[in-house]
Amino acid sequence: MSRMVTRFAPSPTGFLHVGGARTAIFSWLLAKHNQGRFVLRVEDTDRQRSTPEATQAILDGLNWLGLDWDELEYQSQRTELHNQYIDKLLESGQAYWCECSPETVDAMREKAREEGRKPKYDGSCRDKNLGPGEGRVVRLKAPLTGSTDYMDMVKGHISWPNQEMDDMILRRSDGSPTYNLAVVVDDHTMGITHVLRGEDHVANTPRQILIYQALGLTPPAFGHVPMILGPDKKKLSKRHGATSVIEYEKDGILPEAMLNYLTRLGWSHGDQEIFSREELIEFFTTDNLGSSAAVFDTTKLHWLNAQYIKEADPRRIAELLLPLLAERGIETNDTEAIAALVPMYAPRSKTLVEMAAGLDFFLVDDDKLVYEEKGVSKFITDESKVHIRAIREGLDALPEFSEEGIDKVLNGYVETNELKFKAIAQPIRVAITGRTQSPGLHETMLGLGKEKTLARLDRALTM
Ligand code: GLU
Repeated sequence: MSRMVTRFAPSPTGFLHVGGARTAIFSWLLAKHNQGRFVLRVEDTDRQRSTPEATQAILDGLNWLGLDWDELEYQSQRTELHNQYIDKLLESGQAYWCECSPETVDAMREKAREEGRKPKYDGSCRDKNLGPGEGRVVRLKAPLTGSTDYMDMVKGHISWPNQEMDDMILRRSDGSPTYNLAVVVDDHTMGITHVLRGEDHVANTPRQILIYQALGLTPPAFGHVPMILGPDKKKLSKRHGATSVIEYEKDGILPEAMLNYLTRLGWSHGDQEIFSREELIEFFTTDNLGSSAAVFDTTKLHWLNAQYIKEADPRRIAELLLPLLAERGIETNDTEAIAALVPMYAPRSKTLVEMAAGLDFFLVDDDKLVYEEKGVSKFITDESKVHIRAIREGLDALPEFSEEGIDKVLNGYVETNELKFKAIAQPIRVAITGRTQSPGLHETMLGLGKEKTLARLDRALTM
């Protein structure tokens, strides 16, 4: 068989949403698995709704996920080619000019509806042999009987009665080619062998097959993947939360987690959940694509993300944390210092946003540290200040600010004064972090370093 070629064909009218991203991933994986080519075709023919910003946002989203393409095409630059194919169909008698105005066609549809028939254009210009003219469209001379059948890679055998299909418009009265015609010409001329796309296109496929047949061409293989649903089993939408891929990046999801998650949404390989990029490519075939709709589950995405955060290189995580810390008012480029803190937080963070919120207190200037009011009023008391002062002196006197040294000061103080560790733990924690939750005390102190630890204990003593 010739080399496999797949494509992703987004309309650039907004961000890359998770449904589109998943279709792109499936098409990309199919090509990669078969050492084929992956084409990105920006379907920007709707000049009103398409914007360069949306195109860029889609490219950014695909880049973020690590989906690379072998070829990038813009549909709007191919109008001449589309028209050449329409001319071919006119010449071979597979298409014809139609002079019926939209109002006339609407009336036909209405009449059919009233008579209990399927509303469609009634073919009245099929045999009129009209030529071009003001207000005229070009229609496909579609078969009136029989059915259009194909084997869907996901849904299995599909059969569509030809009676239910119009003589569809191929060229509008303003001269522009229609969507179905453009997609067929593009898929054919780009050598696309396999089309994977969303289920919302399932009704277009028999129409496109009719165009292939009229042109005497073999259609590619088609597969339609089910929609992604929200937890309420309705089509995933803004109501359910973030729907654009870039929002997940902003929320601190790692791209490899998103890639893994979206692939598993409608595809499986035994009961394996975690896949490296290489494994996805190795295992992906359309045989294991599910035909029922999948529910987007943020909890599972976060679980996967946590697994990837644990595995990731702390320096990379540190780089990714920089903008998230900046959003929290911490302008720093000290990735080394951040990377040193990452192992403390990696086992307990579901997202990078969560991690940034957890470790920001380490990086903030001592005089800018914000103390939680509740924590201060409960734990920074006259009584606890006595302990804080004594422990501060003990830490200051340490020849080496080490784990053993810190533990010795804390445990020694508790023992000598016959206290429970509880009596000092939260006061010290609040004093050095501003909050009541943090990693262990010596870990936190080591993360801060001696100077900052002492400065913060001093600050608490002035409260
Ligand atoms: N441009 C279409 C869309 O964004 C996809 C066309 C196709 O995959 O055939 O929905």
